[in-house]
Amino acid sequence: MKAAVCREFGKPWTIEDIQLAPPGPREIRVKIKACAICHSDISYADGIWGGELPAVFGHEASGTILETGNEVTEFSIGDPVIVTLLRHCGSCFFCSSGEAPLCDSHFPLYDQSPISTLGGETLLQGLRTGAFAEEVVVDVSQAASIPENMPFDSASLLSCGVITGAGAVINTAAMQPGSNAVVIGCGGVGLNCLQGANIVGADPLIAVDLHPDKLQTAMEFGATHAFSSTEEDLSEKIRTLTQGRGADYVFVSVGNIQAMLQGFELLRRAGTLVVAGMTGVGEKLPLEAIDIGDNAVRIMGSKMGSTDLKRDMPQWIRHYQDGKLKLDELITDRYPLERINEAVEAVRKGNVMRNVIVFD
Ligand SMILES: [Zn+2]
Ligand SMILES: [Zn+2]
Repeated sequence: MKAAVCREFGKPWTIEDIQLAPPGPREIRVKIKACAICHSDISYADGIWGGELPAVFGHEASGTILETGNEVTEFSIGDPVIVTLLRHCGSCFFCSSGEAPLCDSHFPLYDQSPISTLGGETLLQGLRTGAFAEEVVVDVSQAASIPENMPFDSASLLSCGVITGAGAVINTAAMQPGSNAVVIGCGGVGLNCLQGANIVGADPLIAVDLHPDKLQTAMEFGATHAFSSTEEDLSEKIRTLTQGRGADYVFVSVGNIQAMLQGFELLRRAGTLVVAGMTGVGEKLPLEAIDIGDNAVRIMGSKMGSTDLKRDMPQWIRHYQDGKLKLDELITDRYPLERINEAVEAVRKGNVMRNVIVFD
């Protein structure tokens, strides 16, 4: 079967024939129908978070179950599912305390990648998934059922971008209905912070980004106001919209220090700053330390929207079916696997919400 293999950091991927090990007792083999390109795939492929190569990336996927390990009872052959990088045991300290993305249990797939070339060379399962390939073998916890009639390309977005953004609002911050919120960065994750905040009823819901096009899109995804991050008196404008107090919640969707500092400045006293974007390794955040205590602010990190797939997926699907969660509208373009480098280049250039690799 075919996969896009990354052999050198920052270089185009090569389409190669690969093979998969059969699924272990608690693993499944999935035929991939769609896999969206996420910025994390590109960051890893560029080497900014370290890691080893060669690897197959792709972790925002959907498909159908082809084979189940002998202890899997959750799925049957042919079931439509999304496939995520969230590999979790469901019972460790973190899984039990609502932070399944931090699960620290050990899985057989950590010891042995299931992917190799036809010649037997081991390929790393990038982001625990390796879904820029026709099939994957993953832990059973990495999949969740989707309805038969849900389009695979739209469903794939639920695997990462949507849950990271909307989950940061609803799960991590447990945002209070009727609060006001600012979302900094209106790319894939930021638009989904907006969608999550909109579902909770945030008012006003203010989008901040550098690019005018993204601000336009933000308004379509639920923002009530949109401002350029370079706007001179941005703090003042946001205070005016919030009875002079500042933001109850600020969600920073990008891994950018300036955006995080700006978020800190826009908060009201006792407001909550939620950081959902990841910077490169080694970057430091220079905050005015006295303001943290004196203003009683809360600073929270959000990893994958504190998602518990089993708990959360039914509600995201319901919101999609009710028209409250836009997924189809998030797709910019669809590409076959053979054109993946073109799709990645378009993402790098920006102005892409989600490009999706689709399989026959
Ligand atoms: Zn992702
Ligand atoms: Zn766990």
